[in-house]
Amino acid sequence: MPYDPVDAWAKCLTSLRGKLFSQSFDTWLRPLHCQRFDEDKVVLEAPHAFSVSWIEEHYLKDIRSAIRKTYGHSPEVVLTVSGDRTVEQSNLWQGPGGTVSAPIRPADEEGPRKEFVSSTVSARDRSPEDDDTALPVTGDDGDDAVSVTGDAAYTFESFVVGPSNEIAFNAARTIVEAPGKTPFNPLLIYGGVGLGKTHMLQAIAAECLRNGTATSPMYVTSEQFGREFVTSLKEKRTLQFAQRYRKADVLMIDDVQFFEKKERMQEEFFHTFNTLHSQGKQLVLSSDRPPEQMTGLQDRLLSRMHWGLVADIQSPDLETRMAICQKKAELGGMDLSLSIAEYIARKVESNVRELEGIVNRVMFTVGKLHTKLSMEVVDKAVNVGRAAKPKVVNIGTIMEAVAAHFHMPPSALTGASRRADLVLKRSIAMYLCKVYTGESLRAVGDAFGGKSHATVRHACQKLAERMTSDPTLLIEVNSIANALGCPPLGLDDI
Ligand code: ADP
Ligand code: MG
Repeated sequence: MPYDPVDAWAKCLTSLRGKLFSQSFDTWLRPLHCQRFDEDKVVLEAPHAFSVSWIEEHYLKDIRSAIRKTYGHSPEVVLTVSGDRTVEQSNLWQGPGGTVSAPIRPADEEGPRKEFVSSTVSARDRSPEDDDTALPVTGDDGDDAVSVTGDAAYTFESFVVGPSNEIAFNAARTIVEAPGKTPFNPLLIYGGVGLGKTHMLQAIAAECLRNGTATSPMYVTSEQFGREFVTSLKEKRTLQFAQRYRKADVLMIDDVQFFEKKERMQEEFFHTFNTLHSQGKQLVLSSDRPPEQMTGLQDRLLSRMHWGLVADIQSPDLETRMAICQKKAELGGMDLSLSIAEYIARKVESNVRELEGIVNRVMFTVGKLHTKLSMEVVDKAVNVGRAAKPKVVNIGTIMEAVAAHFHMPPSALTGASRRADLVLKRSIAMYLCKVYTGESLRAVGDAFGGKSHATVRHACQKLAERMTSDPTLLIEVNSIANALGCPPLGLDDI
């Protein structure tokens, strides 16, 4: 039986949304466009090649199971890059009256190309109003806060530039015009948690693909690179591993501090770096501190990081924070006045992620609960984050913070429901208790409605595995840790 691809996929998305975290869902699955949906085959278009490989690696199983659950059959699921549709075009589902129901949008029909301004690393005079609404937005149609959809969440257009990040931003803009051919090779962007490093790296990948200056950019976290390398050693496939990364024309490696004190990984990274660099391919790296402070990295790697440009990202100043609030609201389809943006920006001084959380809460209240936007609503959104910041971190305060984060009552965490989303949220709460309270697994289990210590251990292990392979989940867990006033977890701590 033929299905309308858009409607059929929308039903699967509803099921996936309940299962995945909002950030993972919004970043990877929401932007997918269903081109074909029938019993034999489902074709999904992703905005970029790297989204395809990421989704294949992390979410294919979930997608298959959502289709099976919703429609009772198991078609082949194929992911393609938007615009890359010559093969599938003739097989598109024919809707009633023989019309093709999935309109084909040529790759170059993505709106006006942005003018490239900077060719040097100078400050760029840019205000948030300079950005057009290049990203389509949707209203709030889900359980979560209103969120951005579009070709990708992390683009240059959605990045707000200010004195704290303009050098890195301008270097990135320069690179995407001619990857590998500028003096910024490698570009190393460093800065604290939540200041936009990953956003910038992914924006570079997205823009290179969009403007056609690269055909196979690759984005990978250092942890993922390391994990794949170890697997390739185990399975004696190191050659294939090396070839895979050396095919990239722009290689982005996020959070390279992860390589500290890992000699074999550094060795492999060093060779990958040399091969690509000598072929004029572009490298973009990020780290949470400057090279000088990465004491566990070999000198030869550190010196290579200085071959190009090392640019830092600092905490944004008040005006940039205000602009970020307005930009996030605008992407969510809401108009935030300057005075409200300023009010929020004054409350959160350093962490953009926290700022974003407040804007999301405001949009949720206004969009989902149909409340009028007022200072009271904003105050409440600011205070939810604050209220979840207890002086004492214990099982009770963690439960409250997790419940507040997911807009649900704490009692939902102690129940026995096996609903996948609840199981995941409960395991986050258990995991935070294990890491930050020092309570025994038995005590944690007791507090969560009399679960055994083996259940708590199993839940924590499963969550740790998921966080290792899905950085967006780790980000979500860290945003709760942040609300609790606890230090963020790094991949090494999991
Ligand atoms: P990092 O990798 O440095 O820890 P991320 O890139 O994950 O930080 O950014 C955290 C969140 O903050 C993301 O949702 C990102 O879009 C947002 N963000 C950070 N800086 C900016 C900025 N200058 N403009 C817009 N969004 C930003
Ligand atoms: Mg990051």
